[in-house]
Amino acid sequence: MRITAKKLKIAGACKGDVKAFEKRWPDGCNVTRENCRIAFRTLKMDVEWAAENLLSGGCQSVIDAGANACKKCRTYHVCDFPPYCKFDEARIEAFYQLAKG
Ligand SMILES: [Zn+2]
Repeated sequence: MRITAKKLKIAGACKGDVKAFEKRWPDGCNVTRENCRIAFRTLKMDVEWAAENLLSGGCQSVIDAGANACKKCRTYHVCDFPPYCKFDEARIEAFYQLAKG
């Protein structure tokens, strides 16, 4: 799956995210694990938003993956042991698995 700034705009991404994406990937990018980490960690894009709007109906599996990985972070990321928490990692992986098909 390929993502472009245009695709984000059409999906209704906020201006800041579109700009950040375009700066990092002027010609768009393929969905790889590495690119998912950059988008959702470094650029702090919203993985739930992306799953909902870029992958049809993917939001729930991303939410479930996070909830299963860390009960404390189920709703908000308020973990006692962030270095050991697999919440973000699990959600990013779930997105990646859905996107690669
Ligand atoms: Zn956690």
